[in-house]
Amino acid sequence: MPHYKVAIIGAGPAGYFTAQALQNARGEGLSFSIDMFERLPTMWGLVRSGVAPDHPKIKTVAKVFEKIASDPNFRLFGNVEIGKDLDIEEICPRYDAVVMCTGSSLGNKLGIVGEDLPGSLSAAEFVPWYNGHPDYVNVAVPLDGDTAVIIGAGNVAMDCARMLALDPTELDATDTAEHALAAFHASNIRKVFIAGRRGPEHAAFTSPELRELPKLEHTDVIIDVAAVHDAHERAFAAGEVEKHVAANLEAWRLIAEHPRAGRERSMEFHFLSAPKEIKGNGKVEEVVFGINEIKEGKVIDTGKTYSIKTNLVISAIGYHADHIKGISVRDGKVENDQGRVLGTNIYTVGWAKRGPSGVIGTNKSDASDVVKLLIEDLNPEPKNGGDITVVIPQSTTIIDQAGWTKINEAEIAAGVASGKPRVKEVDIAKLISLAE
Ligand SMILES: Cc1cc2nc3c(=O)[nH]c(=O)nc-3n(C[C@H](O)[C@H](O)[C@H](O)COP(=O)(O)OP(=O)(O)OC[C@H]3O[C@@H](n4cnc5c(N)ncnc54)[C@H](O)[C@@H]3O)c2cc1C
Repeated sequence: MPHYKVAIIGAGPAGYFTAQALQNARGEGLSFSIDMFERLPTMWGLVRSGVAPDHPKIKTVAKVFEKIASDPNFRLFGNVEIGKDLDIEEICPRYDAVVMCTGSSLGNKLGIVGEDLPGSLSAAEFVPWYNGHPDYVNVAVPLDGDTAVIIGAGNVAMDCARMLALDPTELDATDTAEHALAAFHASNIRKVFIAGRRGPEHAAFTSPELRELPKLEHTDVIIDVAAVHDAHERAFAAGEVEKHVAANLEAWRLIAEHPRAGRERSMEFHFLSAPKEIKGNGKVEEVVFGINEIKEGKVIDTGKTYSIKTNLVISAIGYHADHIKGISVRDGKVENDQGRVLGTNIYTVGWAKRGPSGVIGTNKSDASDVVKLLIEDLNPEPKNGGDITVVIPQSTTIIDQAGWTKINEAEIAAGVASGKPRVKEVDIAKLISLAE
């Protein structure tokens, strides 16, 4: 059986599902040695640093990842950043194929005046802050005012809103980073607004996320009944309504009709609201929105405005891929043709390939499609490029699978006494020492 070597860059869902697709190719008479490189000492990508702490079931997919990593032909090189500790030019000649699964970690900009004021954050900073990503521990999140504004109408915006609008006791038994949990307990935020540029019928929230909102125990969820009614009229007047839109409209109706309990905490949706400017003297004080309307299916600026006083604005309007030395990034993605980086032995899967769309499972089908192409392109004779370990700088402490298992077990053990799934360690040096 020919035996090939593949390097996977990035230990998120795309990386693990790529490894799994390669392992499954054994049935076709091919075998692969897989080396996975991850810049952090911790694994699982956004399953660890993105998925909301109050959605623990979603994170159980990590068990699948660990099973994939237990294969004898799988080696982990954690704490090794490609483009910094090791260049892509050093990797490519040593492997038959290299798969970039590096995700999409930078937040898109609103492009409005005042966006850079302190208190204006991207979800790409706020989310990894509450999820204990070591690079974001020191993000300044002002929680002293009573109001926060979230800009965006997708599930990431919803996660940000929930984290701010839940009673912090609801997060006590989660894996929210300890520094963030303490900050949420001290937070004065009681009103959270979520603003979307278009109507409820256009929002990218998915219906399971919407349907859980009326069940929140400590938070009133508010949407104008008339806004839901108008969205319904517009959607059905335009002809056949897509299944997910109909499901969302039904979820909106339930939210609008759900009796408000006069709770101290609220989450309020504002649609047809386009952010125009963030105002403030040295820090965020107010967000100005233009009011849109929809005419003949088009979103039109009415010229009218309103504003919300706040000192925390979080924009959740999408992500783009970070630059990696030696890799061409175009339109926020690794430049590729259906996953092939043309003219090289490099491939890409996941958010690095497609941009920030799709759930965890989407990366599984994506990985299997790209691995098919990778197998088609393989030379009949496997390359014998020599082992990568000789070129990894001596100064880099590699976290291998055994080291990562120790970190994982130490974090889980640290959570037992307080009933949490784990207590995340957020300091790189401490993570490395846990792996020893
Ligand atoms: C806030 C948020 C919440 C989400 N919630 C859900 C949810 O509830 N359910 C769901 O199904 N989906 C959810 N998703 C979507 C899901 O997380 C993504 O589909 C998935 O994580 C994308 O996988 P990926 O492997 O492409 O990227 P990532 O998960 O981002 O993994 C990329 C990995 O590459 C590493 N890396 C980057 N650069 C380098 C480098 N130069 N060298 C080495 N390693 C590198 C990163 O550190 C990271 O570990 C959410 C996404 C976000 C942003």
